[in-house]
Amino acid sequence: MSDTYVIGIDLGGTETKGALVDRNLKIMTNDVCATPAKAGPDVVIAEMGNMFDRLAKGRSIAAVGIGCPGPLSPSRGIVFNLPNMPGWKNVALRDRFAECVSRPVVIENDANAAAYGEYRGGGWDVDGDMVLLTLGTGVGSGTIINGRVFGGTFETASEWGHVIVQPDGPACGCGQRGCLEAYASANAVAERVRLAVNSGTESSLAENVRRGETITSRDVEKAMRGGDALAERVWDEACRYLGLACVAIQHAINPRYVLLGGGMSAAGAILVERVRRHYDGQRWHMFDDAPTIELARLGNTAGVIGAAALAWDLAARPQ
Ligand SMILES: [Zn+2]
Repeated sequence: MSDTYVIGIDLGGTETKGALVDRNLKIMTNDVCATPAKAGPDVVIAEMGNMFDRLAKGRSIAAVGIGCPGPLSPSRGIVFNLPNMPGWKNVALRDRFAECVSRPVVIENDANAAAYGEYRGGGWDVDGDMVLLTLGTGVGSGTIINGRVFGGTFETASEWGHVIVQPDGPACGCGQRGCLEAYASANAVAERVRLAVNSGTESSLAENVRRGETITSRDVEKAMRGGDALAERVWDEACRYLGLACVAIQHAINPRYVLLGGGMSAAGAILVERVRRHYDGQRWHMFDDAPTIELARLGNTAGVIGAAALAWDLAARPQ
């Protein structure tokens, strides 16, 4: 049995990552391809099938796990909708891919898969409960309760990015106002600097904004390290709202860890230490049930490792 593997796939809007993974969740081989997003689900699924063949190369594959942007239903295997990918309306991804590769398939929301990847493969000293927040285009998140991905009644739970942290705050892409995501995603941090410059606030990034250049959270981080007051304010605000979200997470879930991942987490200590400080300044101290806030460990492989771990779970279940 030692020569049996699973394949984990992380389907994204621009690229699709895949990995051949052993029982210890060690990645044996990686694969990546551009997602033919505009070509519709048939072509995307066929392309994932080609990736399966490249990774499997005739080896024994027990199951496949796919992490995919939502909304989707893991229990029914259906993707309801994929933002920016035409044709993805109620696609039975699980069953169609199972037919394509003749293996059992499990699908999961990509952020949930990443959280499960950190939980199972990140080497954390944890037995039960963990939350991952990924700071990228948006604020993605996954919640692990009792060692399993928590989905809720409609399988859309754990949208910590859309918890409202400021009533009547800035509009969020989801239609609400004042979501965590509207302050603390990598995109939001950059956008808030751009808006402030456009309304007359001085900043070392002002020239770049006026020239119409794209500002990233990395630019904001660099400007802040260089002493820029606007960058400092926007970055600190993001960390304060993340700290506030950690208080909500503490009281709702009571996890051992809250992990910060995604592109913005590359900032390292200047992110995690600030979030900890704001969290500590806002939480209760009458009882010490505080989660430990850490940087995530698996980077952009968390998704494929989590998908692979879900595939192993599926393979272990009686069919
Ligand atoms: Zn929102």
